[in-house]
Amino acid sequence: MLLLAVNSGSSTLKFRLYDMPSEKVVTKGSFERIGSIDSDYTIRVNDEKIYKKEEIKTHEDAVNTLLTELVEKGIVKKLDDIKAVGHRVVHGGVLYSHSVVITDRVIEEIEKIKDLAPLHNPAALIGIRAFKKAIPNATMVACFDTAFHQTIEEKAFLYPVPYEWYVKYDVRKYGFHGLSHQYITNRMKDILGFDGNLIICHIGNGASISAVKAGKCIDTSMGFTPNAGIMMGTRSGDIDYSIIGYIMKKTGLTYDEIDNILNKKSGLEGIAGMNDLRDIDRAYMAKESKVVLAIDMYTERIAEYIAKYYIKLGKVDAICFTAGGGENDPIIRKEVLNKLKPLGVEIDEKINDETIVRKDKEGLITTKKSSIASYVLATDEELVIAKDTFNLSK
Ligand code: ADP
Repeated sequence: MLLLAVNSGSSTLKFRLYDMPSEKVVTKGSFERIGSIDSDYTIRVNDEKIYKKEEIKTHEDAVNTLLTELVEKGIVKKLDDIKAVGHRVVHGGVLYSHSVVITDRVIEEIEKIKDLAPLHNPAALIGIRAFKKAIPNATMVACFDTAFHQTIEEKAFLYPVPYEWYVKYDVRKYGFHGLSHQYITNRMKDILGFDGNLIICHIGNGASISAVKAGKCIDTSMGFTPNAGIMMGTRSGDIDYSIIGYIMKKTGLTYDEIDNILNKKSGLEGIAGMNDLRDIDRAYMAKESKVVLAIDMYTERIAEYIAKYYIKLGKVDAICFTAGGGENDPIIRKEVLNKLKPLGVEIDEKINDETIVRKDKEGLITTKKSSIASYVLATDEELVIAKDTFNLSK
């Protein structure tokens, strides 16, 4: 059965066409800069790459262009061969702890949740509507980035603010990157042979850490919004909220301007003036002082969360690193694991240096003596979407 896994961002649409249940990726690609005259798209089939630079005005245009290409290139015979479309939806609020088949009611609910995710959910809705119109017979499924974290208990998801804010306005920790944390949890079950106690570090440009007890999430570092928890590429993560009011008074900047700075110009970018770990690593090797400081701050915050979750879990079977940085950056992993020496963690530096997912190598990076094993694993959010979509449309 052919199905599409789709990730619609505010100006992007990424997709993979799967043949299920074999999990074979038939084709994949992305539309970038939708809505700008610079838009372009790439579709990959086996070793062939179709690249076109043309104006894609809306997500609906992107969907129609994609479907036309799939038929014209003979990738699918007719559109009705695509039996289902799974959509990544960033925010499922408190309503969704699993993926669901999209009905009119689900669309309404995602609409309502958009106050909580003003940048993300509207893009997903545009994608859902565009596919519904283009292939009305396909089953549509929503896969939420918050769903995996819905097992977190009240004492961990509540903020110590008036309880009424939670009751009236849904102020609580939601957590994000759930599809990735879910995927790594499943992979670790295959590796360990049981549902383990895990600390999962998703280190991309956005970054989050989850504590997973016997396969269920019990805490995560992102919160009411993705700008919580550890320091990230361009996000501050946790800060003393009073800084916002203070800087507003000092500079005359508005709340929205400061919010933008805390999301887009803080974190590694704020301290080191760059946010891509590849650039950061080069500057770190050259011992640029701001970059050395930024890496120290960055890895200290990751190590602090790991230590905190170690206490919560009691026994930890594995610390896992995933996403762009976690998969490919031995420097960050080494700095983090060395900061965990007091817990008895011991990295195998040679294996860590060689373990780079981009070079097709994943696996264990700690020594036999290490008190906790640490693994590097490639995440696959699209596969989680594909599997859930397949199971719900059977
Ligand atoms: P996001 O979806 O948040 O953009 P990704 O999981 O795609 O995150 O990760 C992107 C980040 O991964 C980049 O910003 C970069 O910091 C890091 N990264 C990617 N490749 C490498 C590499 N080869 N070495 C070090 N870091 C890398």
